[in-house]
Amino acid sequence: MRTEFIVSDEVFYITTAIYYVNDVPHIGNASEAIAADVVARYERARGRKVIFGTGTDENAIKVAEVAASSGISPQQYVDSMVPVWSDTWRAMHIQCDDWVRTTEPRHRRVVEAAFSKMLENGDIYKDLYKGWYCVSDETFFRESEVVDGLCPNPECRKAVRWVEEENYFFRLSAYQDRLLEYIEANPGFLAPEFRKNEVVSFIKAGLRDACITRKAYGWGIPVPGDPDQVIYVWFDALLNYLTIAGYLSDERKFAETWPADVQLVGKDIFVRFHSTLWPAMLMSLGVELPRLIHGHGFWTVEGGKMGKSLGNAIAPVKVSEDLAAMSGADFDVAVDAIRYFLLREVSFGLDGDFSTSGLIGRFNSDLANDLGNLLNRTLPLLHRHRDGVVPTPSPDDHDSRAVSVMIPATAAEVARRLDQLQFSDALAAIWGLVGRANKYMEEQAPWRLANEESSAKLDTVLYTVLETVRSIAIMIRPFMPTVSEVIWKQLGIEKPLADQTWADASTWGGLKPGTKTGAPEPIFPRIDTKRKPIEPAPTPAPKEEKKVEQISFDEFKRLDLRIGKIVTADRVPGADKLLQLTVDMGTETRPVVAGIAQWYAAEDLVGREIVVVANLAPAVIRGVESRGMLLAADENGTAILIQPDKEVPPGSAVR
Ligand SMILES: [Zn+2]
Repeated sequence: MRTEFIVSDEVFYITTAIYYVNDVPHIGNASEAIAADVVARYERARGRKVIFGTGTDENAIKVAEVAASSGISPQQYVDSMVPVWSDTWRAMHIQCDDWVRTTEPRHRRVVEAAFSKMLENGDIYKDLYKGWYCVSDETFFRESEVVDGLCPNPECRKAVRWVEEENYFFRLSAYQDRLLEYIEANPGFLAPEFRKNEVVSFIKAGLRDACITRKAYGWGIPVPGDPDQVIYVWFDALLNYLTIAGYLSDERKFAETWPADVQLVGKDIFVRFHSTLWPAMLMSLGVELPRLIHGHGFWTVEGGKMGKSLGNAIAPVKVSEDLAAMSGADFDVAVDAIRYFLLREVSFGLDGDFSTSGLIGRFNSDLANDLGNLLNRTLPLLHRHRDGVVPTPSPDDHDSRAVSVMIPATAAEVARRLDQLQFSDALAAIWGLVGRANKYMEEQAPWRLANEESSAKLDTVLYTVLETVRSIAIMIRPFMPTVSEVIWKQLGIEKPLADQTWADASTWGGLKPGTKTGAPEPIFPRIDTKRKPIEPAPTPAPKEEKKVEQISFDEFKRLDLRIGKIVTADRVPGADKLLQLTVDMGTETRPVVAGIAQWYAAEDLVGREIVVVANLAPAVIRGVESRGMLLAADENGTAILIQPDKEVPPGSAVR
């Protein structure tokens, strides 16, 4: 176990995988980023300097293709997509210290320098490449892997391209033995254990040299001294972790920050890229390897597979809004509840299932009943019988001690679990304390202690519970930053929660007698399960919905709403909710994918006029390009198209 306070200049450096800009955030990416955020907040509370790095992967071929088809530059396209990710992370209370974009000059310099260094030391060489390439996955495949010209990735199955070109290769095969030796000598390097075993088998099966460049296509980082080639997006993207740490740009920062303490990635990119190519690249550069690379599992939705192509990927902001609407809780409280759910529901590393009933169950029992009640039952009593002022407890009360002794033990257990990324167990330990304090309330029944003789006992019971809640607020803060602040405000403690350290969680007596508490207000309103819950609806168009807020007229004017006339309408094969439309916009016709197939037959739509959001960033939905979104009224989940009162020329502005 790590010590409580680390006195050192060393930075605790934690990363997530960077996000592919063409995608939109779903709860799978969110749970990885939330996990990293929890660790970062916890390490900060322990007094450490922390860098939590994340970012966007922007140099892929598909970026250039999508941009070209939309008539904008790749740079404009990536600039429009980055806020989709960063705004979502902000809404989900994910507080990173650095956001690297692989199109930034600071990253390009690192990639160029790393490439040149490996070329000099003989780990990069030029050769003829012949093989299949899947643009969607940005992955090369051997001839034997491709059947019928389709990508062997079962979730992709798109047509692959035959590539025959002079490329640069990284001598990955030369690192096979060194990687195996390293993994054996450093048992904590890869986790969880069962995924580490997959890595070992993969390496033992034989590593091939990796093709790390492509013929230049006008986007991406050119090979230094050979502008006809661009660097392969994976070779480029992995180096982001060095960029953030200050590699080759800030020697002091790099010395303090590197090696990364924890690198979190999904299981799909754990074996091939992060546990094989990435450490080999670092070995070639003579840079120390990260302390821990952790490969987590995936989320299914209501027992079924989740994926962008399946149209059921759950948007984190949307599901938080739905939870707020179902319960009546504040949006920021609902966000914290989603954070709690994602880390409590499964053991980090394994696959998990996201279900509305599971979410409601956790919300009602763990949050509303257990944590919420602890405060909701105590504060009103304090206001009724003690004017809301924290009383002085009796020293040496036997029953009170039975609760207070649990606190340092719980704080130590939570720390031990967090050190091992066992978020669910850490929360279970905190909820053990919540449960013990609730049991103490039941045993003492303070609502029966308001008379003269039992006055001292009432003081002790109220104090004991509120002091326990104070400690719990500090312990849950990494997981639920807003909820812990709301609790803190109700406790009325003057010293800000932000100034509390992890040690303050385990010290008894932090709540000073005489403290004037705030007004008691329930934080988690129970969800009435008899009412039909709002289903986390599939999101046909990849858009991030925001909280309802007022906007200025100027902001409204940024929307380019136009009349379009539907020229053709077809079902998207394999997607029962989607229609693929071509829409006459006056000066051009455009493809628009709309999630209305349940309510409108394709043949009934041709010739109709609709309202289109014309300046929506383009997206690829189920492999079909979409440039714009049509407007429809939402009548209890049924889409009703908005149509002009009489026919107007296509392209007319809607104001
Ligand atoms: Zn593919």
